[in-house]
Amino acid sequence: IPEGRGDYKYKISRDDVDVGQILGEGFFGEVHEGIYKSEKTRVAIKTCKDCTADVKEKFLSEAELMKNLDHPHIVRLIGVIEVDPVWIVMELYQHGELGKYIIEQQYILTNATLILYCLQICKALAYLEGFNMVHRDIAVRNVLVASPECVKLGDFGLSRYVDEQEYYKASISRLPIKWMAPESINFRRFTTASDVWMFGVCVWEIFSMAQQPFFWLENGQVINQLESGIRLPKPQHCPPTLYSLLSRCWAYEPHARPSFCQLACSLRYTAVYLYTC
Ligand code: ADP
Repeated sequence: IPEGRGDYKYKISRDDVDVGQILGEGFFGEVHEGIYKSEKTRVAIKTCKDCTADVKEKFLSEAELMKNLDHPHIVRLIGVIEVDPVWIVMELYQHGELGKYIIEQQYILTNATLILYCLQICKALAYLEGFNMVHRDIAVRNVLVASPECVKLGDFGLSRYVDEQEYYKASISRLPIKWMAPESINFRRFTTASDVWMFGVCVWEIFSMAQQPFFWLENGQVINQLESGIRLPKPQHCPPTLYSLLSRCWAYEPHARPSFCQLACSLRYTAVYLYTC
């Protein structure tokens, strides 16, 4: 478990937060924009609607994990207000979700920028890989755009620490089937290798201009297709070298997939090769 900056540093006072407009609806309740006055920064404030003790624990578990993370491409937690009404305060990324941003900007975004986003997400995941942390929900809906050149991986609501030889066995069924590795669908088995599979699907989304993976299938049909060797097709604008990297992320056997460190190297190489030669 990485060293955090200590729990107490994340306790903030409600008087220090000005609440503004609604940004969107989260799983637990409304998300508002606001200002954190002592740092003069714009923030996103997550609220919890029906916050019974059980729900509160689940709501706060995301913030607990985020307290230990410090990376340029991971959403930054600013603080938590643990007395009712419970709030989680994060840095605001004004361009919003990557999926929506890609659709809005599709005629402006270049392949070089799309690969840059992939590389940034990959670096964030390589950082998590170093702590044996699995994210379990890697998708463009969970990446936020800080600036046209910088994205941040967010939504640690499903993340867990796993012991090296172990894996996290999921019990809940709030699971994104079309993004999941075969062993996750079949046995609810989640490891860094299954995160690598999901990252491949996320790269596919980025190059497909945020189309839904397997939109032509029902959830229940996905596993049969994967087991008969069928994979997501190459998006029109995806360079073939990048697609062959994705195919390696989608190896049926988890141990045959590359690590995030290896992927970051290959992505860098692909970007340099494609755009400087
Ligand atoms: P949950 O994970 O609880 O479902 P989300 O993280 O998806 O909630 O947040 C809901 C909405 O709020 C999203 O549509 C997202 O656009 C917006 N949002 C959340 N966090 C931020 C942030 N840090 N900066 C900007 N927008 C955010």
